[in-house]
Amino acid sequence: MNLEELRRYANEVEAAPLGALMDKTSAAVRAALKHALALQELTPDEGLLLYTAQGDDLRATMKCADLARAEDVGDEVTYVVNRNINFTNICFVGCQFCGFKRQKWESDAYDHSDEVILTKVRDAVARGATEICMQGGINPDMPPFKYRDLLVTIKAAFPEIHIHAFSPMEIMYGARRTQMDYPEYIGMLHEAGLGSIPGTAAEILDDSVREVLSHKKVDVATWVEIISTAHALGVPTTSTIMYGHMESPRQVVNHLNIIRSIQKQTSGFTEFVPLRFIHENTVLFRKGLVSPPPIGLLDFQMYAFSRLFLRGWIKNLQTSWVKLGVELAAITLKIGCNDFSGTLMEESITAQAGGTSGEFVPVDLIEEKVGEIGRVAVERSTTYKKLYGRKAPNGARPISVPDRSAASHPG
Ligand code: SF4
Repeated sequence: MNLEELRRYANEVEAAPLGALMDKTSAAVRAALKHALALQELTPDEGLLLYTAQGDDLRATMKCADLARAEDVGDEVTYVVNRNINFTNICFVGCQFCGFKRQKWESDAYDHSDEVILTKVRDAVARGATEICMQGGINPDMPPFKYRDLLVTIKAAFPEIHIHAFSPMEIMYGARRTQMDYPEYIGMLHEAGLGSIPGTAAEILDDSVREVLSHKKVDVATWVEIISTAHALGVPTTSTIMYGHMESPRQVVNHLNIIRSIQKQTSGFTEFVPLRFIHENTVLFRKGLVSPPPIGLLDFQMYAFSRLFLRGWIKNLQTSWVKLGVELAAITLKIGCNDFSGTLMEESITAQAGGTSGEFVPVDLIEEKVGEIGRVAVERSTTYKKLYGRKAPNGARPISVPDRSAASHPG
């Protein structure tokens, strides 16, 4: 389906009465949807039915996801004014889905100085950013306390900015380099100014898939341990999934089941963010191990299923304009999503994997797209405090040209 067909499809679902859609579903899907609407937790088998729903079953699932969103979080669509800073693209890990990493001898490898990073933060603050999102490659030459020192440097100059930084992979690497255990290491970063952690490096929480995607990367048990430790120390995190590559539907459901189980114990996730795999410049695609993910209906399945499966535990479902493009991301607001992500200001990891959605979305455009579907955009903090009445200076428009060699990280 092209974009117009997808928009029409979503609009038809929105306009149809629930009863009419439910009447056409299979009995098993109808039972699962009734459970979700009654706030009964879905079993993994029910989740699998909804994630793989097609035709009339998918339409009803999309409708129920939108109803659950309206009941649970209302009609406001939140966004954060933030800036991505990918402080280095030098990395030895070699994830097969990554088009961002460079070896240090490559001509476009970089490792930003503190001065460059502070300039970027200053620019972001001038444009109204409340958050700096920082991730980078795993640089073999990194000084052991680099992550802590980066936090101290930024916080000394900009004490108010929220720093959302360092994936579980970076936390694992930093802890190893400093020979600290996770509570000690995360506690040190927290004291140095770390506000929250991106729940990236999750990809698919299944070690058999991770072995192929990136055998050097943090394994499932370690990812769970680092995230749970952060939550226990009062450091919130996001949660993510990367879908549309070589995972099976059952592995997707198991992934969400792990996320849901952690949330039951810690309540530390602020949101869930499905991230579609961008294939173009990746080894995985070049080796013929994956096909380009189908655009549109797979995204609808993922967002609708996520809203319903996590219901009662994670109420913020974030769409990703970086992965989907602004227009398709706006459509997913009718399929369970209530958050439009951030302005980012610069984004290079997805861009370098072949993404074409650009590196910056101004606040005005977010408001326009949300308004077009009859909803209201509201700025939020990283931790979802609504900032009513605040208008970011310059509408968070760029006042300097984004540097494509310095932006975000794929996870
Ligand atoms: S995803 Fe991150 S850790 Fe993996 S190769 Fe790319 S930069 Fe390195």
